[in-house]
This record gives sequence, C-alpha cells and structure tokens, in this order.
Amino acid sequence: MNAAYKIIWNKCKECGFLQHKTHLRCLKCKGDKFESIAASGTCKLLTYTILKATPMEFRDQQSYALGVVEFENGLKALGQLTTKENLKTGIILKPIYKKICNDLNGTEVYSYIFKPLE
Ligand SMILES: [Zn+2]
Repeated sequence: MNAAYKIIWNKCKECGFLQHKTHLRCLKCKGDKFESIAASGTCKLLTYTILKATPMEFRDQQSYALGVVEFENGLKALGQLTTKENLKTGIILKPIYKKICNDLNGTEVYSYIFKPLE
C-alpha cells in the first residue's frame, strides 16, 4: 500500500474499539485517546452496488461498482471496484491507489480502488 496515502482509523486506547478518525470520542466508551491504525493486507468485500447514474466526474463511465470492504485488521473503507463482473460478498480484494477521475475543474483525483484477487 502506498505509504503516503494510507487508510487510517483510530483505535481507542481505553477499550480498543476501532472507528473512523472523524469521531472525536470513542463511540463505545467515550474515551478521547487514540492510536492510529493503518489498513493492511488484502480486504474482503462486505457489500456492493452498481451505480448506473454516475456523478459528473465519472461521466465517461456508464456505470461502475462501488463497494464496502473490510481489511484483515478490521478497518473498513468505501471505494470503487475495478470490475462489475463476478462480484459477491466475501471475495478477497487488493487495494490499488490510482487516479480515479478528473474533478469538474479538471484536477486529477486519486483514491483507492479495489481489485478482486482472482
Ligand atoms: Zn473506547
């Protein structure tokens, strides 16, 4: 995984609960001390959908798949999938950091996209 653009979550130092880093307090115990945990390894597809009305930034694509994945260490992430074919929950994917589109000002947008291992 690209070291400069890791997917980072917070792990509560009180109770160990993992949560997105936008929360200021632990959702479980209300603690406010965290350590940063980076997503690692491969991930599992938890759920997905096929978008058929794509946002303007993706106007060159008629449709694409969007999924929620869970990494081996418990972190979850939302992102595009590289394919719409043969998807089912539970398959293993690998994160790839790449340009996903140009925004409406023409600026390149980079993010993780998830590719099935098989
Ligand atoms: Zn906690």
